[in-house]
Amino acid sequence: MIELINISKVYNPNHRNMYTALRNISLTINDGDFLAIVGESGSGKSTLLHIIGLLDNFTHGKYLLNGKDISRLNDKAIAKIRAKNIGFVKQDFALIDDMTVEDNVMLPLYPIKSPNKRKLALEALDKMGIKKLAEKQVSQLSGGEKQRTAIARAIVTSPNIILADEPTGALDSKTSREIFDILCSLNQNGRTVIIVTHD
Ligand code: ADP
Ligand code: MG
Repeated sequence: MIELINISKVYNPNHRNMYTALRNISLTINDGDFLAIVGESGSGKSTLLHIIGLLDNFTHGKYLLNGKDISRLNDKAIAKIRAKNIGFVKQDFALIDDMTVEDNVMLPLYPIKSPNKRKLALEALDKMGIKKLAEKQVSQLSGGEKQRTAIARAIVTSPNIILADEPTGALDSKTSREIFDILCSLNQNGRTVIIVTHD
């Protein structure tokens, strides 16, 4: 369970370009929920998703993940919790273009003691229906294939929470539908899925 209590985010505090991106957000997300965070560009969706995904800190408030107070933990402990619990599909894929598909998918496994990283990556790619692309360079993929690779990278650690930032934003409508169906099936398999969208 994810509990945000009065979370605020101020960028550049005490500077003249200080900016309050989130103000007093309280939100409870139960295990197995499918949630869409919707809002116009600049409204703070990515900021909120990055905080939920433990990729960014917040300025005020409290965040409990499975009852544990995140703000009391150091960076190393947070990285460990993130690696174990959270898969993140970043805006615009955020893949490394000059690496192969499987090497991209293996990246989240580096902090984890796992003897067979390549096997886990191939299994994740298989679930996304693109195992045959494993040795291709990311730069040679279509948009839909890139997003499937990004989702494979998000699920390779078997997290129970999947976060996706505008996962269909850069795709045509047919491919968007396919990606949305993949996210639905991840949720039907019991994972919590949180997506950000302006659509
Ligand atoms: P969205 O994803 O809804 O488009 P963001 O969360 O990316 O919105 O950004 C919300 C607001 O915070 C925007 O006005 C943006 O300019 C500002 N912002 C985002 N990141 C930073 C940053 N690192 N420093 C300063 N302002 C930022
Ligand atoms: Mg955004």
